[in-house]
This record gives sequence, C-alpha cells and structure tokens, in this order.
Amino acid sequence: MPKIIKGLNKKQLAFFASVHYSTTAVAAKTFNPKITPQNYNIAYPRKERTTIGAITIVSDIMKDEIKKTTLVKLYASGASGKKLCIETDDKIDATLSKAAFLSNKVFDMSANPTFRYIQRWNEALPEFNTGHFHRLHAFMSDEIESENDNITFAGDYIGGPFIEGAFTSGVNAALRLNQRLHLQ
Ligand SMILES: Cc1cc2nc3c(=O)[nH]c(=O)nc-3n(C[C@H](O)[C@H](O)[C@H](O)COP(=O)(O)OP(=O)(O)OC[C@H]3O[C@@H](n4cnc5c(N)ncnc54)[C@H](O)[C@@H]3O)c2cc1C
Repeated sequence: MPKIIKGLNKKQLAFFASVHYSTTAVAAKTFNPKITPQNYNIAYPRKERTTIGAITIVSDIMKDEIKKTTLVKLYASGASGKKLCIETDDKIDATLSKAAFLSNKVFDMSANPTFRYIQRWNEALPEFNTGHFHRLHAFMSDEIESENDNITFAGDYIGGPFIEGAFTSGVNAALRLNQRLHLQ
C-alpha cells in the first residue's frame, strides 16, 4: 500500500509494515497424455511434505473432446517457496516435478510437456500471525482510516487470506466510503 499511496501517516505505515506474506512458486505444464486422467487436486499437510504444497490436474475434455490436453500445476510449499523463487525456471520445474513424482503416482511427470509456465509469487498470501487480529481490531476501530479521508482500504490482508476475504473487505470498504461521502 505505501508503494501506491503517498503521504500515509505513521499509524497507517506501521499497520501496513506489519502485514507479512508467504511466498510460493508455481510450475504449470500441459501434456497430451494417451489416457486422459480425471480432474484431481491434492493438498499436502505441512508436516508430510516440505517441498510441494499442492498439485492440481485439470483435463479440458469437458470443453473439447478432440483436444485432450491436461494441465498440471505444482505449487511449492511455504517452506520451499522462498528458496525456489530466487532459482531459475528450470530449477523450480525440476525440484517441483521431482517432488510431485515422489509424492504421488497419479500423473506421469516424466513425459515431455507441450507448454510450461513458471510463476513466482513473492507476496502470495498475507500471514495472519500472532497479533494480526489485534492490529485488525485497531484498523476496524477507525485508528487506521481517517474519517476525513476519501480513501478506504481493502484486501485479503484485512478480510482473510482467500478470495472471499478480499471480496468481503472490498464490499465493506465501498460501504465505508459511501457513508463518508454522504456525511460530507
Ligand atoms: C498461487 C495462489 C493460489 C491461490 N488460490 C486460491 C484459491 O484457490 N482460493 C481462494 O479463495 N484464494 C486463493 N488465493 C488467494 C487469493 O488469490 C487472494 O487472497 C486474493 O486474490 C487477494 O485479493 P486482493 O484484491 O486482496 O489482492 P490482489 O488480487 O493481489 O490484488 C492486488 C492488485 O494490486 C496490484 N498492485 C500491486 N502493486 C501495485 C502498484 N504498486 N501499483 C498498482 N497496482 C499494484 C496487483 O497487480 C494486483 O492486481 C491464492 C493465491 C495465490 C497466490
């Protein structure tokens, strides 16, 4: 937020500086397998896998019976994400593919992909660590937003680290702004 809005006050700067994010890297690859697998998602508990956090397998035969492309996405765990983000695309791909091969035999990752895309998420999800609810309470009690400003804040770091949290905080920010504009 401080990168987008200039002139934030001390309390606002302290609040935004307190928001920390997890980091992950995602390898997305498409294949044309002989036998099209069913759509499949696996999420690994932190204690079970240290390198890979999740795998999603999606085949598009629902849309196009002829194409038979399968999209496999490999998500680095929180622990490995930070280290992998500074590596090359090839290293990220190789590390996650090896971990995926070791952790499940659902899909043969040794085949040649038809396409590959590597995405680094340096600020993936806000971490609601110790004290974050306390800071959110300060945010909600008008200590962060000033009633005289025509700016309201929204995002998953306020509402919860998922789409619904981001969406809900956006709706609430719009309601607060509407209320302030009507008071002026
Ligand atoms: C890999 C991954 C998988 C996820 N999967 C799920 C899932 O399955 N289900 C779920 O509910 N949630 C999921 N999430 C979380 C969800 O995507 C986020 O919680 C949500 O998108 C956050 O919305 P937001 O509007 O707060 O922020 P964002 O969607 O991050 O929007 C912030 C916007 O600000 C822009 N921006 C940043 N800096 C600047 C700048 N300086 N100037 C101008 N613009 C800027 C960015 O480009 C971006 O468009 C996932 C997140 C990640 C990273």
